[in-house]
Formats: sequence, structure tokens, C-alpha cells
Amino acid sequence: MSETNPYMMVGERLCMDFINTVSWRESTEKRRDWFTSYTKLVDWSLHAEVLTIQQAQDLLSEAEENPSKAEDVLKQAIELREVMYRMFKNISMKTPPNEQDLGRFNQSVSHYYQLLQVTKDEDQFTLRFKQTEKNLDPMLPPILQSAVDLLISKKELERVKQCEGDPCGWLFFDTSRNKSRRWCSMADCGNRAKVRRFYQKGK
Ligand SMILES: [Zn+2]
Repeated sequence: MSETNPYMMVGERLCMDFINTVSWRESTEKRRDWFTSYTKLVDWSLHAEVLTIQQAQDLLSEAEENPSKAEDVLKQAIELREVMYRMFKNISMKTPPNEQDLGRFNQSVSHYYQLLQVTKDEDQFTLRFKQTEKNLDPMLPPILQSAVDLLISKKELERVKQCEGDPCGWLFFDTSRNKSRRWCSMADCGNRAKVRRFYQKGK
């Protein structure tokens, strides 16, 4: 994970990038959460193309009117992210997620799936999450959906991995043909490992 690019997206799936919004996840000293405010959550969601600029602007002005509501959404987002992190980390180690996390995840599934509706577009129907103007959490359903899509595909799930860079902790979806990807990014953790190997050899 990078210190220089605040919005590095290497997860290859929306839910993985969302989980990776904590730098140095597995380090107690270096751990840094990117979502320090509701504004940051909106900003990241815009960058991840979960929100349009218009949506982001509307959300930020609504949040200004309703700071405690925005604070609640931020808390929910972080809680969901941490649940997803633990679930997918377990999966990357071929262990099942714990019951409590799956239960918490399913609460979000039930909550957001009530918002699903079929709408008629130009020449086709689309299933999407209904948005109301006053809701401050429209970024969460697509992220949740991305996690559900990954979870229910056995073949895809095998490609969920955790970066071997210690204490990076980032998760990613390995798109390489022979499932050989080991690092969140070659330029960061990959390179650090290479340098470490080089020095160990020299010793
Ligand atoms: Zn890494």
C-alpha cells in the first residue's frame, strides 16, 4: 500500500478497494484510516466512481445540514468495511468467516436489498437500488453488492488474496492467469520485499 497516492486502487473489485481504505492495516503503529470524516468517504466514493460529482455535491451539502446523520453513515460504513475485511481475510486463508461477521453482513444485505427495484430505462429494464434525496449512504449498496457478487461465486472467491507484504494487510482479487499475484502492488510491497531479499542475500 502506498503512502504517496491517497486513493490507490489495486483491489480489482470495488469491495476490495473499499476494504483497502486503511493503510498498513495490520500494523498497530502505522495503521491509518482514510475515512477520517464523512467528506473523505464521499471523496473516495467519487474517486471509485460509485458516486457522480452531482451526487457527491448533493450529499456534502445535505451532510452539512445534518452532521449527526453524516457521522452515523460514516460509522456504518466503517463497521461494514471492517466486517468485510475480516470475512474476506478469512476467505483468503481458506477459513470460513465467523458467524457474527456473516450475521452482521446479512443485516446490511437485508437492509439494502429492500431498496432494490426494477426501473424502465430507454429500451431495457434495470435492477437498481432506489435512492432518496435525504439518504446519505447511497455509496454503500453498490459496495455491498460487489461483496455479495464475489461471495456467491466459488470460482471468483478462490482469487481473493491478502498482500504478503507485512504488515500491509491489503486484500485483492487476483486477476493473473495462473493466480500468482502476491502483492497489493509491485511498486510498493513487491518492491520492498525485493529490496529485503537483496539485503538478506548480501549478508
Ligand atoms: Zn501490500
